[in-house]
Amino acid sequence: MTDAPIITKVEVQQCSRIIKDIGREPGSGTPTYLPGAEMEQSFYMTRVFTDKGIVGEYPLAADISRAAELMLGHSALERGFFYAEYARYPMNLLGAVDTILWDIGGKFHNASVSELLGGFRKKLPAYASTMNGGVTGGLSTPESYADFAEQCKEIGYKGFKIHPYPRPELQDHIDAILALGQRVGDSMDLMLDSFCFYRTFADALKVGYACDEAGFFWYEDPYFDGGATEYGHRKLRWYIKTPLLQGEKVHSIQQKVNLLLANATDFIRGGIPANGVTGTMKLAGAAEALGVDVEIHGCGPAQRHTMSAIGNSNYYEMVWVHPDVECLQMTNEIYANYADGLDAVDADGNVGVPDGPGYGVEYDWKAIERLTTATVVHE
Ligand SMILES: [Mg+2]
Repeated sequence: MTDAPIITKVEVQQCSRIIKDIGREPGSGTPTYLPGAEMEQSFYMTRVFTDKGIVGEYPLAADISRAAELMLGHSALERGFFYAEYARYPMNLLGAVDTILWDIGGKFHNASVSELLGGFRKKLPAYASTMNGGVTGGLSTPESYADFAEQCKEIGYKGFKIHPYPRPELQDHIDAILALGQRVGDSMDLMLDSFCFYRTFADALKVGYACDEAGFFWYEDPYFDGGATEYGHRKLRWYIKTPLLQGEKVHSIQQKVNLLLANATDFIRGGIPANGVTGTMKLAGAAEALGVDVEIHGCGPAQRHTMSAIGNSNYYEMVWVHPDVECLQMTNEIYANYADGLDAVDADGNVGVPDGPGYGVEYDWKAIERLTTATVVHE
């Protein structure tokens, strides 16, 4: 393609922000609600410039500096070239490069990423995906979980997922599950994500029985195996009725499909940061061919555009919401016309798909400058 935009510069701005009232409990590796605490979040605001004046922009989780040498001088439209090149790497380079190149592709063709993908869903059902439970505040007791679920239902959400970690007592998790089932089980899809917290297969089994009793919609990453063992999850599925959602903890789409083929999961987890838009569409195709659904991890413009083109996907993950603190979306303040968060759904619990070329979002560059701690330019 003679008119293809050629990549001339890659600019990476390392950004960080402080979130109030979020911290780590002593002895816990995972952030939770902790009044008075502060936590730093960081991301890489990335721009890929081309000789046609088209600029790809996205707040990426990974620094694509390592890819800059290969990108410079190459067509920004050849996503397949970069996908093949970086599929050999274990980390998130593939997903990051692919994600930002889709923004350029959309802007070049004057179409949204959704349109380029053949997107057909204008409204995406969202579930409220809570922050980790804490020892105080709104997600610290079975009743407070159930209260927040009701609040989310009032807002419009049809689904509600809890991350009960890091409360150490298994019975606390079981009590929260049963309280949710009693309070909203007949009116919301309920999910549990232990984030691979339960130490033993037996503990995962006990929680799974509670999910069965409460009629949960899915049970995600139950236990301490790293979310990857085929045998263990296949065995778990023999004992419990609640469908499993696995695949977040393995990176490649090949590993994810292996979990499906091994009967180790019911739903498969898709991930934009690791697999990009391209890889997630490939995974959705593989899942469709096997007759199952893909559920995309996390929220953001790329997640919305991708899900809009996938029929076999149920929910958009509005993560992490909490009754007492702002949504933990690290990037909300950098957008001029886009937001995720507890109130970012309509009265039916849906989110929309941004219009406009590429991802259809505009950035607040003054806010981005305020958050920038370092800038690296490759040209
Ligand atoms: Mg998860």
